[in-house]
Amino acid sequence: MIILVFGKPGSGKGSVAEVFSERSSFKHVSTGNIFRKEIAEKTELGLLADSYIKGGNLVPDEITNSIVENYLKANGKEDLLLDGYPRTIPQAIFLDEAVKRHNLKIMGVFDLECEDSLVIERLSSRRVCSECGAIYNTRNHNPKIPGVCDECHSPVIQRKDDSVESITNRLKVYERDTEPLINYYKERKLLYKVDGRADSDVVFEEITGILAKCN
Ligand code: ADP
Ligand code: ZN
Repeated sequence: MIILVFGKPGSGKGSVAEVFSERSSFKHVSTGNIFRKEIAEKTELGLLADSYIKGGNLVPDEITNSIVENYLKANGKEDLLLDGYPRTIPQAIFLDEAVKRHNLKIMGVFDLECEDSLVIERLSSRRVCSECGAIYNTRNHNPKIPGVCDECHSPVIQRKDDSVESITNRLKVYERDTEPLINYYKERKLLYKVDGRADSDVVFEEITGILAKCN
């Protein structure tokens, strides 16, 4: 079974996905995390992805789609939560075809609604573990030892694309390329709006409640 969490950068997709991987059968699949791992390992894909990501632009569809295709081929039998994919109409069409090809099903698309002022505040205070991707923020969720991840003891850093310029561009790209997906999934009767301003465990409860009714 596949579910999608959808929303602006900073709407809390990654944090909710972390709760899902701790408390449910769903595995967290984040194209952003996959790219960041490739960047850290300085692979060819990583170097290419970095040139798009640091300015807040999208990685081209063909590259992103082939990563997801390989992932579904290997892990399609598991419960998967896709975070940050699809992000364009061509990606959504590709996913629909891949889902058919691998005999899978999208159960729901959960749109984490959140106003721009809050996402800007969240993103500029966000810090992440450079190794495992755990999410922190300087307002109310600092690691126990400053700058050191609680989970894996690696350095906690600010993402390059969490600079003010990149955040502004990411919100523009979201509006132009990603927001049209809301209608795409609404037309397919898969879209559920949830409150992205709430804490991630509250959002988790809301989504699992909706999923229980879908089954
Ligand atoms: P956020 O949702 O906060 O922007 P992500 O970790 O999901 O963070 O994505 C970070 C960056 O990785 C994006 O700004 C984009 O450059 C790239 N990326 C992630 N997912 C996709 C995707 N599905 N298509 C294209 N680029 C992507
Ligand atoms: Zn870590």
